[in-house]
Amino acid sequence: MTRKRRTLNQFFTALLGSEPELPRPQGITNVAGTALPHFDTSDLQPTPAPMTQVQQADGRLSQYPPADRWDDWVEWDGAAWPKKVARRYMLIPTICFNCESACGLLAYVDRTTLEVKKFEGNPAHPGSRGRNCAKGPATLNQTYDPERVLYPLKRVGKRGEGLWKRISWDEALDEIGAKMRASREQRRDGIMYHVGRPGEDGYTTRVIQAWGVDGHNSHTNICSSSARVGYTLWAGFDRPSPDHANARVILLISSHLETGHYFNPHAQRIIDGKMAGAKLITLDPRLSNTASLSDLWLPTWPGSEPTVLLAIANYLIQNNLYDRDFVRRWVNWEQTLEAIAAGQLATGDAALEAELRAAAGGVESPAPRFRFEQFDRALKAIYRAFSFERAAEEAQVPIERLREAADLISKCDGKLAAHSWRAAAAGNLGGWQTARCLFFLNVLTGSVGNLGGTSGNEWNKFVPKPFATPPLQPAWNGLEFPDEWPLAHYEMSFLLPHLLEEERGAIDVYFSRVYNPMWINPDGFMWLRALQDEEKIRCHVALTPTWNESAWFADYVLPMGHAGERHDLQSQETHAGQWLGFRQPVRRVAMEKLGKPVRFTYEANPGEVWEENEWWIELSARMDPDGALGIRRWFESPYRPGEIITVDEYYRWIFENSVPGLPAAAAAQGLTPLAYMRKYGAFEVQREVVLPFEQPLALPDSPPAASVTPGDGLLLREGKAVGVVVDGRPCVGFETPSRKLEFFSPTMARWGWPEIEYTIPYPVESHVSPRRIDRAKGEMLLLPNFRLPTLIHTRSANAKWLYEISHKNPVWMHPTDALRLGVATGDLLRVETEIGYFVDKVWVTEGIKPGVIAMSHHLGRWRLQESMGVGAGMSNLVTLEQDTRGRYGLNIVHGARPWTTFDPDTSRIWWTDVGVHQNLTHAVHPDPISGGHCWLQKATLVCKAAPGDSHGDVWVDVGKSMAVYNEWKAMARPATTFSPDGTRRPAWLKRPLRPVPEAYRLR
Ligand code: SF4
Repeated sequence: MTRKRRTLNQFFTALLGSEPELPRPQGITNVAGTALPHFDTSDLQPTPAPMTQVQQADGRLSQYPPADRWDDWVEWDGAAWPKKVARRYMLIPTICFNCESACGLLAYVDRTTLEVKKFEGNPAHPGSRGRNCAKGPATLNQTYDPERVLYPLKRVGKRGEGLWKRISWDEALDEIGAKMRASREQRRDGIMYHVGRPGEDGYTTRVIQAWGVDGHNSHTNICSSSARVGYTLWAGFDRPSPDHANARVILLISSHLETGHYFNPHAQRIIDGKMAGAKLITLDPRLSNTASLSDLWLPTWPGSEPTVLLAIANYLIQNNLYDRDFVRRWVNWEQTLEAIAAGQLATGDAALEAELRAAAGGVESPAPRFRFEQFDRALKAIYRAFSFERAAEEAQVPIERLREAADLISKCDGKLAAHSWRAAAAGNLGGWQTARCLFFLNVLTGSVGNLGGTSGNEWNKFVPKPFATPPLQPAWNGLEFPDEWPLAHYEMSFLLPHLLEEERGAIDVYFSRVYNPMWINPDGFMWLRALQDEEKIRCHVALTPTWNESAWFADYVLPMGHAGERHDLQSQETHAGQWLGFRQPVRRVAMEKLGKPVRFTYEANPGEVWEENEWWIELSARMDPDGALGIRRWFESPYRPGEIITVDEYYRWIFENSVPGLPAAAAAQGLTPLAYMRKYGAFEVQREVVLPFEQPLALPDSPPAASVTPGDGLLLREGKAVGVVVDGRPCVGFETPSRKLEFFSPTMARWGWPEIEYTIPYPVESHVSPRRIDRAKGEMLLLPNFRLPTLIHTRSANAKWLYEISHKNPVWMHPTDALRLGVATGDLLRVETEIGYFVDKVWVTEGIKPGVIAMSHHLGRWRLQESMGVGAGMSNLVTLEQDTRGRYGLNIVHGARPWTTFDPDTSRIWWTDVGVHQNLTHAVHPDPISGGHCWLQKATLVCKAAPGDSHGDVWVDVGKSMAVYNEWKAMARPATTFSPDGTRRPAWLKRPLRPVPEAYRLR
């Protein structure tokens, strides 16, 4: 419809109260990415139905069409109001792909045209319970995005030149499969799969394992790795799963109520908890929406969080307000006292240490030499120095608020739900101690694994096993796990360009998958350098649903589906239960329900958009067509021997064999397990999971098959610890070497980190502690990584509704700093970092701590061509400059502007500022233990912009990048020097895609 015709329509609509009828669609259409969808008008009228109701914490009811009507649902079209236009849909469940929460969605698929009208919440999903955040329904924008990539593309010019030709999927499979085969025949570390958020559990890792290569790379080290280390050292699980709904006190480091993991499912349960009387305490230097809804906001100086948490711990310890029985039963206090006796841990209590030395030396048997009362004395001695006064001074927070927080926590009655993910843990050198100190409060209050407490992620997440598991790969990829960081969680992914720059290797085939490494990682120009270098990255295949900055520097751009265009299984630890979600290509499912068979998902999706799962099957088969490499057999059907498996068969096998309770639940409805999951899109595996570590274990029969080690009570099966005896009762325990919660970490001591600040919960001085920031010299602390609830990293670009809500990332600055610098809201500011600078606008607000400046990190998207790339309303058109001395510049030609497409909304873009790409100017800061990037930056100079500066200017010297990288690398304690046993990494620490044990040996 032309603009003029549309305007006339609007005029008549206003005049007559109704819109002229659009032409009635004829049969199936498939216009996503090329035109606005049409929907059929139904002759049927909506009929009353008993709606599915979900009660919210405040008493309101949400209503949904009942599941038995999902295959044929008629309702009035709200967009046609006040006219009554009936539409007839199939409601196909899927799960959201816009963050890792995996919330349920219901796609309303028009029964005639098979276009998707909307995505709403799926009430049958146990995690999200029918609710979504703004990003869930915005999946519709992504589906009908005018700028989406619809066909496989191959580069025809130089890398980055922006010249492409359309190729067929067959060509892509043959060409890439051949390159992979050639690499695999030569070596087992030449293929690398680099994923942002996986959005699925286990499928792709199985594929890579089947290839027999050590090739999995993830984004964990720019995200959660430091927090994971803190939890792992305590308990073996690497993420917390707080039971917010049943908590008495909810303690959040950062803004989980509005943006965290797992955002919507957690947000609704935090509100459940609050409505039931829980108190919410938030530590955040920024007045986020979460902080503003908290009962107590502690605006801590970044990096001071461990000290604050230990001051609370100290209050519990000195006043005997901790759960002594829980600590006695489940903490490795005997091991800790051994360490004190051996001089490995100083307490400051000489008498106690002498007593322990005497006890240790005087008795041959390790059995009860020590008493719990001595551990209590040790705790009191070690943490005595963590007074409220000290914490208040370091955190720059009123002391009364710290006392109030401690008082609330002391009265939590074993129901403390606590969460830390990125924020302070991901921000600071030693940030992993934030999670370690936070979980210390869970341990002290006995809030571990119980209702209202904090569980381990693995207890509340369900990952089913597939039909056959390939063997472990006999290789170790040093570009992913370099020897300098033996304790890293996990791959040192953001250092890949620096490792390549050091000539440590090259990559034959590099898959970036829903991942934009040049944009999202720090030091993006180093990524640009690596992606441009065809010697170091010989073939780059970008698997992506939409254009991104890094895909521009790929050799192949392969379009992959959004939430309603792909299969995946996903589960998350959203609460104290377990569920499994099933993502589906909704149009394909609708077609199949209507009796229209589909062989590959791209036949049903827009253009030739495919899904990774089918792509991997076909690619693996092309890589090993005759089975000589031993790869093909892992992709053969368990139902049709020798033939290549289909996705239906893959999931059918899992649902029939690996999900307890699902076959019975399906049978009760007369469905196959696969049909059940296609119908509901989710299954609740366990409603409630409580205290799994207390689960009894059968006593071992006889050695050597099974035994109990004297002293520490470890239960061994075939030499492997599987449980522990506690108070005479054999229990499962935790996934640590001692099967207990490890207060003192023998692993840290053995692997070269024996100092107190590494072995027990204790603060490590951050690289941005107040001592290291000289405000008088113009230095400030840049907090560059807070999230907005409406955007997710690079995945939500091209969602017009979301960008209308949030599109810019000004620098938050406190009024006192603004006054000092002579800037007001809207003025341009130059922020200099260790390696360069950027220019952005200021937003003066009391919502940020003095001395700290903050920016959201979602924004500042850019494209190099006017008419191709990220949508013109969501990105800046920029120029890139680079000189022969390794200096790079990015300048904005113009910001967002309206553009003409089939979607009239693209001509209604009213904003121009779409943010500044600050990450380019961040040097890499690999934490020497967790390996995580420490996001906080010392801004070496913050000042009013110079006369020649323009908004969005970025300038970087990558020579300085390597210098800063080397400084941080020097802090590491490499396995080659510190490994106690000649291996690269402690065997008990997790690793995605663990290789064979021999691969752990240092060469
Ligand atoms: S919280 Fe995440 S998964 Fe849930 S609707 Fe929002 S973006 Fe989607």
